[in-house]
Amino acid sequence: MSDGQLAVIGLGSIGSMALWQASQTSRSVVGLEAASPAHPRSAVGGDTRLFRMTYRGEGSYYPVLRVAQHLWRELEQQSGQTILTQCGGLSIGEIDGSYIPALLESIKRTGAPHEILDHAEMERRYPQHRLAAGECGILDPEGGFLRTDRAVLSAIDAAKNNGASVVTGTPIREIREVPGGVRISTDADTWVFERVIVSSGAWSRDLLPSSLQGQVQTWRIYLSWFAARDPKEFEPERFPIFIRITGQRSLYGAPTLDGASVKATLDGRGQPAPNANSVDRALTAAEIAESEETVAQFLPGLIPCIVRSDAYPDLYTSDATPLVGFVPGSDRIYLATGFSGAGFKMASAFGSIAASEALGRPAGVEGLEFVRPERLV
Ligand SMILES: Cc1cc2nc3c(=O)[nH]c(=O)nc-3n(C[C@H](O)[C@H](O)[C@H](O)COP(=O)(O)OP(=O)(O)OC[C@H]3O[C@@H](n4cnc5c(N)ncnc54)[C@H](O)[C@@H]3O)c2cc1C
Repeated sequence: MSDGQLAVIGLGSIGSMALWQASQTSRSVVGLEAASPAHPRSAVGGDTRLFRMTYRGEGSYYPVLRVAQHLWRELEQQSGQTILTQCGGLSIGEIDGSYIPALLESIKRTGAPHEILDHAEMERRYPQHRLAAGECGILDPEGGFLRTDRAVLSAIDAAKNNGASVVTGTPIREIREVPGGVRISTDADTWVFERVIVSSGAWSRDLLPSSLQGQVQTWRIYLSWFAARDPKEFEPERFPIFIRITGQRSLYGAPTLDGASVKATLDGRGQPAPNANSVDRALTAAEIAESEETVAQFLPGLIPCIVRSDAYPDLYTSDATPLVGFVPGSDRIYLATGFSGAGFKMASAFGSIAASEALGRPAGVEGLEFVRPERLV
């Protein structure tokens, strides 16, 4: 006897999207969440995540990002909420440094729309950034930011409207394949589903097969916010999201949401943490000092003194690439985890891919070999 066709374990960034997408084709989907969807100690915390179509690398994520963009708009239509604000995305760095040439190489491969802004044009259009000689910008017109908690809660509501069940306060402790299904257990209860998706983020390690446990690690990533001298200069209409990598300094950020503070955070400062529940939320003196020095140098319109900060967990894999696909050797346990500090922008698409494949349908996106769990076994 089965309790349903599909269980989604963990209703955070990816699981909420998988539940929504699965609920569009199956009437028998259940989401199980240890705490509550979009809780602020998960990788949903911190209000926003950057969305961009231009990034350094092979370009493998580009087709996924195209699907993601389309699905964010679909979720907005279904929920009536603004989720993705495409205020543009700036990449800033030295013309001959480590960042800009590699980004342009990747853009050449994907064909992503972009505009190159030389030093003078950057100063004219985006005076909020104080550029050094030799720095330029690349504008991604499709870049912007996602409202994380709105996205997750909208997807859960849409799934419930489609008939999905949601069970909160229910940490799954064990997943085991049994004849005809998968048994999942909490300390008190047990259910059997035909298939399950594991999307429990930074907490996933204990639910992975032993062959993959050594390939993942929980990391702590912190965020910081600064007060704007003139908040109007940092509104989405004037201030695109940005990533700036110049010499040893790197900073990324997003426009103001509250008309007062601006997210501006050192890039690439994630560190392994003992586990997802013990992420240190306080910034160290060194983290504070480097953040404030970098903001003072890069963004003179911000007061270089942190007004808000926090830290959150995410699951990193050994190759910083997610695990999306069935557990090797299983056709019932599907993994959608290990998004390694970069998963939110693609959550709608990877949720859709996970839902489709776990329900026995094609992914709808080609070229996903690079995320398959087999590669790390
Ligand atoms: C500070 C920070 C900044 C980031 N910036 C960006 C960015 O700008 N752009 C971008 O694209 N990405 C960014 N990322 C990465 C992105 O946010 C994550 O990769 C993504 O949100 C991970 O989603 P997830 O579903 O795997 O985990 P989560 O969203 O954390 O969801 C996991 C859920 O599973 C639940 N759960 C855990 N264990 C169990 C269990 N045993 N049973 C049931 N439920 C369980 C948890 O309570 C949680 O709700 C950032 C990440 C962080 C932390």
